[in-house]
Amino acid sequence: MNMIPSPPVARKKLNWVNITFMCATPVVALAGTGWYAGVNGVTWLEVANFALMFMLTGMAITGGYHRYYTHRAYDCGKPLQLFYLVFGATAVENSVLNWASDHRRHHRFVDQEEDPYNILKGGLYAHIGWIFYKDARRPREKFNNIPDLLKDPLARWQDRWYLPIVLLATFALPTYVGLIQGRPVGGLLWGGFLRIVVVHHMTFLINSAAHLYGSRPYSLRNSARDNWWLGPLTFGEGYHNFHHAFQADYRNGVRWWQFDVTKWWILAMVGLGFARRPRRAPEGLILSARLRVESQRLKAKLEAAAKPEMLREKLVSRLEASRERLESAMARYQDAKLQYHRRKDQWSAEMRRQWAAQIAQRKAEFRTARSGWREIIRAFNRIPHPSP
Ligand SMILES: [Zn+2]
Ligand SMILES: [Zn+2]
Repeated sequence: MNMIPSPPVARKKLNWVNITFMCATPVVALAGTGWYAGVNGVTWLEVANFALMFMLTGMAITGGYHRYYTHRAYDCGKPLQLFYLVFGATAVENSVLNWASDHRRHHRFVDQEEDPYNILKGGLYAHIGWIFYKDARRPREKFNNIPDLLKDPLARWQDRWYLPIVLLATFALPTYVGLIQGRPVGGLLWGGFLRIVVVHHMTFLINSAAHLYGSRPYSLRNSARDNWWLGPLTFGEGYHNFHHAFQADYRNGVRWWQFDVTKWWILAMVGLGFARRPRRAPEGLILSARLRVESQRLKAKLEAAAKPEMLREKLVSRLEASRERLESAMARYQDAKLQYHRRKDQWSAEMRRQWAAQIAQRKAEFRTARSGWREIIRAFNRIPHPSP
């Protein structure tokens, strides 16, 4: 039998600059700050320096690098773009061109070889290991997925001057703040090194923990998870299953109660006039995604319960009928609301009153369909688990 030799797999070269930086910063941050605090104590300004730099940098990464530049989930003006580019650089996670290119590739090829932080290569690789290797591609090849950013003069400016911006905003700025109390080293350690390390691992948790732990309510097609405890740790980026399913939505925590500081920040920026048009996925599509995942889970449970064929078919057809009824009731309700908001200015008072009644009726139909769906779920939940 002729064996066709497989092409040699190109070994990635180690990136010693990144390795040195990523290993040295935690040592300086923990040992250096600990030593300095032990010898000189801690002042309120150092804690404030850390907290303020942490919030500005974290928001520039999640609201700016991620949701604005990578996913275009809303529009924003030049002042806010400049803030995102300067404070995004202080996270020391590369220029926005590199960051957005990697992240778009992650979404497009999630869990595949081309995914830069592929979770199937291990949690540690997805968290930090991938940064230790050089990207062999030339910029023209690498940046073929960010044509919009290559046309953006501010984003190109940040890429060109990335290193000076890092030196000034990441290290010189917190040192200068420390000088107010005559403690420049304290400023550098708290607002510089310690803050960089915390922001790094906050961001890295999205590539590792948010692909390992949590639930998948919107899509079972990839490893991304919704995880409530990652929300407060990551400025709201923990609802990653929703994000992978609806990446252009400005929210990651789509439910009003889900802790997503970045969605509230974006709404605040819209309110203050610095941003516009936050995009939302249609509610009908979001509901459909949830129902389909739920229905797949229930069918798998029924399969495992080894019920008689006829009973299984009956339950599955009730499930599908209920899901279709709920999706259609949602579509009719959304359509009535859309028509009303689009055309109400051209209508008479009587016409508006009739449409308001129509909307109320469709809302009631939607609620009835939703109760029916919940009843089906309860019926499925009563099916006993098969004994192991
Ligand atoms: Zn992801
Ligand atoms: Zn994303």
